[in-house]
Amino acid sequence: MIQMANITKSFGKHEVLKGIDLSVQKGEVVCILGPSGSGKTTLLRCLNYLERPNDGEVTIGDFTVNCKRPSKKAIHTLRQKTAMVFQHYNLFKHKTVLENVMEGLVIVQKQSKEKAKETSVKMLEKVGLGSKLDAYPSQLSGGQQQRVGIARALALNPEVILFDEPTSALDPELVGEVLDVIQKIAKEGITMIIVTHEMGFAREVSNHVVFMDEGVIVEEGKPQDIFGGAKEERTRQFLKRFT
Ligand code: ADP
Repeated sequence: MIQMANITKSFGKHEVLKGIDLSVQKGEVVCILGPSGSGKTTLLRCLNYLERPNDGEVTIGDFTVNCKRPSKKAIHTLRQKTAMVFQHYNLFKHKTVLENVMEGLVIVQKQSKEKAKETSVKMLEKVGLGSKLDAYPSQLSGGQQQRVGIARALALNPEVILFDEPTSALDPELVGEVLDVIQKIAKEGITMIIVTHEMGFAREVSNHVVFMDEGVIVEEGKPQDIFGGAKEERTRQFLKRFT
């Protein structure tokens, strides 16, 4: 359903992605693991053109964008198929929780306010925030703010949700509530790609693990194969740090 073919990306002379090929099936939960600076976030951002790859092709569903000659319309179409959950939540501070979730539905998807509200309330209830509709982000904990971010992504009904280190800005005691929500929606069959350092979570929730280092995919496979006995020495060394 999702295909990245020969994706390269450089920042100046620094080649951060060195020809990445990645296929994701519909309904898969993919965790991308790897050391800091290995290119995980950049790869995620290339998928919806928050970063523009230098070369390669991105396909979501039946829609392919060639990175050499992308039109604005093609980028817009690709973005509409994805939703991103950011490390630092990226909520509008002057809008309520409900307004934050409704925003994309009304402004980008041109839905009526009534319909947008109905969907948004449903999604906020799903992440356990049905009682916080009128609160402002500053009145919420980091974990609650990130759950708003997840409700906002869900409401868009995208073909894939991209999570960029969704718990790494949180105090340790708030990580669990966010991982629980992600695990709950993973069970609903939504395609998800998650950059994370939470190894226990990756092992439990994903059905496809990708290990990256220095701009390449070193190894990928089922979680039980990667965590149970990775083939590559680099993967084993990395995972050893977490056991
Ligand atoms: P990871 O998510 O694995 O930690 P990133 O994709 O964030 O890695 O970054 C990979 C490399 O690209 C790092 O060396 C980082 O400094 C560099 N990088 C990322 N974004 C930019 C940018 N906008 N400009 C310059 N360098 C960047």
